[in-house]
Amino acid sequence: MEAKSDRAAWLKGGDACCNLPPRDVDRPWRLVLLGAPGVGKGTQAELISERLGTCHLSTGDVFRAARTLGEAERSPALTEALECMRQGRLVSDETVLEMVRERTKCLRCQGGFLLDGFPRTVAQAGALDELLDSQALELDAVLSYELPIAQIVARLSGRRTCSQCKAVYHVEARPPQTEGLCDQCGGALFQREDDRPESVKVRMETYEQSTAPLADYFRQKGLLVSIEANGTPEEIFDRTLAALREHAVS
Ligand code: AMP
Repeated sequence: MEAKSDRAAWLKGGDACCNLPPRDVDRPWRLVLLGAPGVGKGTQAELISERLGTCHLSTGDVFRAARTLGEAERSPALTEALECMRQGRLVSDETVLEMVRERTKCLRCQGGFLLDGFPRTVAQAGALDELLDSQALELDAVLSYELPIAQIVARLSGRRTCSQCKAVYHVEARPPQTEGLCDQCGGALFQREDDRPESVKVRMETYEQSTAPLADYFRQKGLLVSIEANGTPEEIFDRTLAALREHAVS
């Protein structure tokens, strides 16, 4: 398995540089992942990133990384963003867009990019179009993962994340070899604050209102590729690859 980028430039922003040299890839895929929280986007993002060399850019990961900053280092906008996140609400478009614009160089990553959790509103999608235009880049596809809501809620409540490397597990569907510990780095597994039942409810409502219309936006642009998100992560990944290849030649 290829080593993954540490995504330092994306997670830290500013002048941070990724540790690993860019790797040779067949072609740089430029993708957006869509789907309700808990549909398995994060797991697919990990697999796509490992196998296709595409850099995984998750806006949620940037906000989670920012939680380790001390109070004094947080701007008022960031403090508000972290409170929104804790409640399962969307962070304002303005704050998210500022954060993404600061990281424009990540869109030029040699391995391509995989945007996970962004865009989340039609306004953010319009801003992404402008940003890509300004860099003379184009999206290859928008992968939309689809699953019934009852299954999504079951997935979210059992989800556990590694506190160190961010690998994602599920207490039933993808348990670690040792309970509570990450197979890859031994880090402690935790339940994300926004996976608690009260936050999950708000996040599902928010998704329906703000994010679901994005599917129409990208369908009209001929970019939407729908993928059934049931089965094992490997099965979903194989389905993703087949759908992506079919889309690329169509
Ligand atoms: P995620 O890991 O993508 O589910 O994101 C976790 C939380 O971060 C969300 O519930 C939002 O509060 C916030 N967030 C992440 N990305 C965005 C975005 N593109 N727009 C608004 N809020 C976001």
